[in-house]
Amino acid sequence: MDAIDKMQTQGLHHVTAICGDPQRNVDFYAGLLGLHLVKLTVNFDDPGTYHLYYGDAAGTPGTILTFFPWAGAPRGRHGVGQVTAIAYGVPRNHLGFWKARIPGAEPLRTRFGQDGITFTDPDGMALEIIALDAEATSPAIARFHSVTLSEAGHDSTARLLTASMGLTAAAEQGNRFRYAAPEGVVDILCQPDARRGSMGTGTVHHIAWRAENDSVQRDWRQALSADGYDVTPVLDRQYFHSIYYREPGGVLFEIATDPPGFAIDEPAAQLGKSLKLPAWLEPERQRIESILPKLVVPEPPFAH
Ligand code: ZN
Repeated sequence: MDAIDKMQTQGLHHVTAICGDPQRNVDFYAGLLGLHLVKLTVNFDDPGTYHLYYGDAAGTPGTILTFFPWAGAPRGRHGVGQVTAIAYGVPRNHLGFWKARIPGAEPLRTRFGQDGITFTDPDGMALEIIALDAEATSPAIARFHSVTLSEAGHDSTARLLTASMGLTAAAEQGNRFRYAAPEGVVDILCQPDARRGSMGTGTVHHIAWRAENDSVQRDWRQALSADGYDVTPVLDRQYFHSIYYREPGGVLFEIATDPPGFAIDEPAAQLGKSLKLPAWLEPERQRIESILPKLVVPEPPFAH
């Protein structure tokens, strides 16, 4: 069996997006949606701005949504070549709770027979909550259900997902084509007449897929390069190691390792409670803290 046959991602690792005001972002994602702020750090390439990580209490891969706040930057334009919706799954018995809790939430039109709601965050980014085939006592948002890739075409992206990344074609409905990983799905929304999106607040910057460890990531890198993708070297993101490449439709993909995870630089019970900096930025902590706006993080409204 050659390397490519073995490659199959478990599913999404994280999604990274751009927001405006960081306090408004924290109030929405931690306060209203009840996600845990699992890491408070800075953009390593722009240490005068935050990098906010939300997830379940442990920051489990597949639950992680991160934001670069670009306060004062213009809004991006939604369009093809972008991730245009992020969907979370919740226990079926709590969908009504979320519809009542989120201002402006609307029922999702039939989505492969699944019930859900659609709404936007304060920067206009589209979010969805899908009812899972499961019940639970806590209404807490579980993990990503799916992301939607808006694309001018379909075949090249579908080939990457299936032939190179191990996803399988699962369903189609109109211009929506669903591909499944063991945990979670991705939809290609084929929109040949739509304009291209552009980066700015309220848009997704990239999505990351899971690799179990560094060795698997090396195999991924080799296989993707052999398939003609222009893959970056492995980059150290402190909480995971990353490679990046652009899928044929224009969305930036990343493959991120599950280890080392968010407990590498603070106790698991204290995740997100204080500003963490990588070793090379520690000497500049005082200056960085004086530049960053103060954030008030709401207590999680319900248990995960
Ligand atoms: Zn990333």
